[in-house]
Amino acid sequence: MSDSPNNDTPARKILREIFGYDAFRPGQEAIVETLIGGGDALVLMPTGGGKSLCYQIPALVRNGVGIVVSPLIALMQDQVDALRQNGVRAAFLNSTLAAATARDVEAQLLHGELDLLYVAPERLMTPRMLDLLVRAPLALFAIDEAHCVSQWGHDFRPEYRELSILHERFPEVPRVALTATADGPTRREIVERLNLGQARQFIHSFDRPNIRYRIGENSGNARERLLSFIKSEHEGEAGIVYCLSRKKVEDIAAWLEKQGLKALPYHAGLDAPTRQRHQQRFLREEGVVIVATIAFGMGIDKPDVRFVAHLNLPKSLEAYYQETGRAGRDGLPADAWMAYGLQDVITLRQMQAGSEADEQYKRIERAKLDAMLGLCESITCRRQTLLRYFGETRDEPCGNCDTCLEPPETWDATVAAQKALSCVHRTGQRFGVNYLVDVLLGKEDARIRRFGHDALSTFGIGDELNQTEWRGLFRQLIARGLLAADVEGHGGLFLTEASRPVLRGETRLMLRKQKKGRQRVRSSGKAELITDPDARRLWSALRRQRQQLAEEQGVPAYVIFHDATLMAMVEQRPATLAAMGTLSGIGAKKLEAYGQAFLDVVREHEGGLIS
Ligand code: ADP
Ligand code: ZN
Repeated sequence: MSDSPNNDTPARKILREIFGYDAFRPGQEAIVETLIGGGDALVLMPTGGGKSLCYQIPALVRNGVGIVVSPLIALMQDQVDALRQNGVRAAFLNSTLAAATARDVEAQLLHGELDLLYVAPERLMTPRMLDLLVRAPLALFAIDEAHCVSQWGHDFRPEYRELSILHERFPEVPRVALTATADGPTRREIVERLNLGQARQFIHSFDRPNIRYRIGENSGNARERLLSFIKSEHEGEAGIVYCLSRKKVEDIAAWLEKQGLKALPYHAGLDAPTRQRHQQRFLREEGVVIVATIAFGMGIDKPDVRFVAHLNLPKSLEAYYQETGRAGRDGLPADAWMAYGLQDVITLRQMQAGSEADEQYKRIERAKLDAMLGLCESITCRRQTLLRYFGETRDEPCGNCDTCLEPPETWDATVAAQKALSCVHRTGQRFGVNYLVDVLLGKEDARIRRFGHDALSTFGIGDELNQTEWRGLFRQLIARGLLAADVEGHGGLFLTEASRPVLRGETRLMLRKQKKGRQRVRSSGKAELITDPDARRLWSALRRQRQQLAEEQGVPAYVIFHDATLMAMVEQRPATLAAMGTLSGIGAKKLEAYGQAFLDVVREHEGGLIS
């Protein structure tokens, strides 16, 4: 398919003229054409894949208004603002609107004056709304976040179940259901619950190639490593730092703030206005780092989050994928950075073992944690491991994760593991890691003497590793399930069945060698892309211009232009409005509204160079 004017379609024309993009991304066009042709579709695409255009363009091509069902009330305003910037006639209806405004929107709907209308599901299902829809010209229904129909997921919304009546009431109107949730059971449930048996299914790879996965060890210095990571690679950029507890969120946010970053805490223990304010600042201001528990993130579709950092281990790969997926929605390079340590592994294992849930549930949770730990300790491509878990195989290592960029060394840890395991055995399977390491290193210690453990054969036999290395080895043994932690929470370790073959010398244990010092994986940030000082100056000037325009209108900066568009200006240095109009992300409306302002910034910069 080429984009020559001869085979220009209405959809391509809108893509170019309204949205300012040259070409569809893989998969988008087929979905768009299916809907334009009146067919139903189910779309599974990762976050940042470009799902919105898949229904926005057909809504513009077809007669009537596209009704978008979304549970994310807080984001409707921004979504509608972004569309209006492109000259699309968009509006929303939800409980936050004043009655008079809502009536205006309803009138526009009836008069065919809208291209897109965002509605909360509970609102859509009211008799009043359904009655309005019968009288309005309808282009399509888009059911966003369609996994909300599944009661197995954590986003279950009972109102979503009722959406099946759309098909009965409006059989002629095409429907598209969209989600970034990958798994088969959820997909089948969407089809069944929403009556989409006839829909064409568009299932995309869940790979996020622009995200660089990096997982490092935390030997007590994670906070400092995080700071140097942000300062050296993401200074002034937006990011999310996930922590397990509210207390840690508060501590880390305060500490980062003290180190000169714009860091804000977010967790369920903060009052609603504070949470709202912090989220708002994260969305609107440049360079805010939000430090949060997993309470933060549902529906955050800020496109220019440049990094997601984990200071604790997520409970599953699903959680890891979803949380890291909030980085780099705009397709520009982004980092998923994690530091995890021994204590994470012990805490999560204990939480699970001690939970009240039934055996089957616990077994599933255990398997999920095992998969997560498997990724952490993996000595092959992280992306391959991650995608395999979601049922996708890829033949080649990705070249954009830490193990690919800096292959870890492995070592034969069999003998050291035998020493560690037998030390656990001989001390009675009830001591924690610190004590066990002291025994292995033959430390002078009153407690060890009192228990008579200085007389054990494992006392002082471990001088081939230092304390940190022994802790790392214990972490890996727990991660691999050779050792388990007690349920009472004292951290006492005991042997599992899986440790026997190693103790008996029947299997060899090859482990990831710990890195000495800082990870050297090169930066993936924009800071790296724009190294030239002159380009950096222009970049900053363009960002200032964008921020000013955004503040004047009270919208997030990305609603004016995405980072990718500003980057294109830095690279191409457009000298005329026509040249400006060819850049990705600049449609006719935005060219008219902002072209000159940004052109002036570029000109001034270039002029400054000559004089
Ligand atoms: P999703 O809803 O799948 O997470 P979005 O619809 O928000 O993703 O799109 C992610 C980003 O990709 C947005 O910034 C959007 O403008 C951009 N985008 C989508 N389609 C294209 C395209 N064909 N060309 C360039 N950019 C695109
Ligand atoms: Zn890789």
